[in-house]
Amino acid sequence: MSTLEIRDLQVSIETDQGTKPILKGVDLTISSGEIHAIMGPNGSGKSTLAYTIAGHPRYNVDGGTITLDGEDVLAMSVDERARAGLFLAMQYPVEIPGVTVANFLRTAKTAIDGEAPAIRGWAKTVNEHMDQLRMDKSFSARNVNEGFSGGEKKRHEILQLELLKPRFAVLDETDSGLDVDALKIVSEGVNRAHETSDLGVLLITHYTRILRYIQPTHVHVFVNGRVAEEGGRELADRLEDEGYDRYLTAQA
Ligand code: ADP
Ligand code: MG
Ligand code: MG
Repeated sequence: MSTLEIRDLQVSIETDQGTKPILKGVDLTISSGEIHAIMGPNGSGKSTLAYTIAGHPRYNVDGGTITLDGEDVLAMSVDERARAGLFLAMQYPVEIPGVTVANFLRTAKTAIDGEAPAIRGWAKTVNEHMDQLRMDKSFSARNVNEGFSGGEKKRHEILQLELLKPRFAVLDETDSGLDVDALKIVSEGVNRAHETSDLGVLLITHYTRILRYIQPTHVHVFVNGRVAEEGGRELADRLEDEGYDRYLTAQA
């Protein structure tokens, strides 16, 4: 069993107007096999949390800690974080010109495992997972994220998740821009990864829709750079009915 622990995390960014504090003391503990939904209004700092866990250089950590089984994640490079078992799927994935999906996946797998996967078994595994995600075979010859539709980007993320077998996955707005069919397929992939490898999930979302397909064990409401309320899935149901107004009025 693994634990990802975030303690009193404070993060700021540099803007034209000076330093802007975004995360103002975030506490969060996720263990293997748990699915934590991070919900909240736009601009509350959800993506900032995801980028900070990922090690994006734009985000300055001013205080607090992130540890994975006691190891200091903030001291790790982006690659070291991936090797330690952290997987980050971003709201705005980048294009990688000239690198095909097939090469990208194989390179990532090799980097994370420390050895190349056996060619025969690997190709078969990739194909099986692509089938499950209803991805066309020709997809693996395309360049990463180049001209991908929203749905293709999300399927590619979940394909990575299933192949790389991380300990913890941070999924930022994996539901955005998906029609119901694609949402179901993507959710099934997350659920498979959760069931087969005891994956811990941080599921960041503005809407409750994806929580019909991925059942959270914990729900955290993020407001103004902090966790404003925590509960079980009943809290998500409540948000579906009431929205975030209650928190925003309290804050004003
Ligand atoms: P969320 O994902 O909850 O919508 P974000 O983490 O994207 O929230 O943003 C939190 C706040 O930080 C917002 O006010 C946003 O405008 C600001 N912010 C985040 N990243 C940047 C950036 N790179 N440049 C300027 N402002 C940013
Ligand atoms: Mg946003
Ligand atoms: Mg966001």
